[in-house]
Amino acid sequence: MPNALFDALFARHAGSTAPFLLMPDGGQVDHAAFQAQAAGYGAALAAAGLRPGDRLAVQLPKSVAMLGVYAACLREGIVFLPLNTAYTPSELRYFLENSGAALLLCDPGAEAALAPVADACGARLMTLDAAGQGSFAATVPADPGDRPVVDRGPDDLAALLYTSGTTGRSKGAMLTHDNLLSNARVLMDLWGFTDADVLLHALPIYHTHGLFVATHIALLAGAPMIFLPSFETGQVIDWLPRATAMMGVPTFYTRLLDDPRFTADCTSGMRLFVSGSAPLLAETHRAFEARTGHRILERYGMTETNMSTSNPLKGDRRPGTVGLPLPGVEVRITDPETGRVLPKDDIGVIEVRGTNVFRGYWQMPDKTAQEMRADGFFITGDLGRQGADGYVTLIGRAKDLVITGGLNVYPKEVEQALDAQPGVLESAVIGVPHPDFGEAVVAVLVPQPGAAPDPNALSQAIAPGLAAFKRPKQILLREALPRNTMGKVQKAELRRELADLFQ
Ligand code: ATP
Ligand code: MG
Repeated sequence: MPNALFDALFARHAGSTAPFLLMPDGGQVDHAAFQAQAAGYGAALAAAGLRPGDRLAVQLPKSVAMLGVYAACLREGIVFLPLNTAYTPSELRYFLENSGAALLLCDPGAEAALAPVADACGARLMTLDAAGQGSFAATVPADPGDRPVVDRGPDDLAALLYTSGTTGRSKGAMLTHDNLLSNARVLMDLWGFTDADVLLHALPIYHTHGLFVATHIALLAGAPMIFLPSFETGQVIDWLPRATAMMGVPTFYTRLLDDPRFTADCTSGMRLFVSGSAPLLAETHRAFEARTGHRILERYGMTETNMSTSNPLKGDRRPGTVGLPLPGVEVRITDPETGRVLPKDDIGVIEVRGTNVFRGYWQMPDKTAQEMRADGFFITGDLGRQGADGYVTLIGRAKDLVITGGLNVYPKEVEQALDAQPGVLESAVIGVPHPDFGEAVVAVLVPQPGAAPDPNALSQAIAPGLAAFKRPKQILLREALPRNTMGKVQKAELRRELADLFQ
């Protein structure tokens, strides 16, 4: 009997001694060994009382063991719920309460702090460290025997993945076998992955990018992954010559470019660099090409939709755009107020429809209804426009739009004007409460190393290209912008911090 995702990702490699994971210490894990471990974990989860449809929350360091728990969940029909390792115990409480997780797996070092939280939420707590040791590991049978794989259909839940919480409280996106499998198949074809590839994996695996986009494609294609615990520039540079492809967030690429050891030589065996999760500056794209000869392929997606658009593998990879809708994915741009479909090139909200789109937010029927149109389109909350040639350009998030004196200001337009000035590395433009304007445009700006741009001079320099109402009322200099682990600028944090600027 079938289990859509498990069959496609894992069962096909059953018994194979081909490498699945290449480890930084030089060791490797083959498919057969990995799956034997996953079967053992499956038996231990069942013995802990988890049944198909139950949620398993994990807050674990990135490790083979954690990936094994994911495979075990698929095999047992248990819904996998990975959590950002940066979340504190009090933050975890929300996820446990909201999901009703039956069991939380954590690192042994976090057990004492998490015990009261798990207890209060009625979840069991067990431990598993990066080396595969801990109280959970101790319950794994030495020989799980011939454990049958639980049947799961295309519409069954495979994972409950919470959004990053950039614009508000994280929401649990219900992702089905079909959502994940259809998207992985499309991406594997589109990006040309085969078993001749070796994927350098330095992303976290609690997020859709590292867990689904990267890992699923590698498994479908039968391509081994160089499985690094995190992004460490020197380590990545050392391993690049062994890889053919890498997926990253924009900060990976800026960090590589900041390192003189990163040269065309170490990327000569690479065929593909993919970027997503946050905007890749056109300047980074160009600097990367100048250094290595490679044009980074940028794509766009989100927890709720998996991937929706991508620049082409063969064809024009356009810096500053996120490319074309994926095969089988429909994209339209609508008026945020009326929902009317807008003409080509107009800025509006991006809506997406296709088998990639999630089933709804866990236990938030109202929120789900608010963001799903009757005809099946999901309202992403991202602003963008689509050219006549189909290419989509992201403008920012609808929630980041600044309304000053009744006029709309798209932060990206102002950021681009500032970023183009000498001495400016990057900027974040936000709306801050203002007694006269409702909101005032404020820019937080990071100078280039060694530069000390003068805010007044910058104001004057951008004035000719920007209407007066779009120009920042204040430009503040900072050493860095607040970012989360996926490289997303935390504008909500900046807004909170600067809320009293004009009060
Ligand atoms: P929350 O929904 O809780 O506010 P989040 O939207 O940051 O958090 P994710 O699902 O992890 O959570 O991120 C998806 C978002 O990331 C997209 O909606 C988009 O705003 C942004 N994003 C993804 N890819 C790109 C890209 N290539 N360029 C710019 N932004 C991107
Ligand atoms: Mg979101």
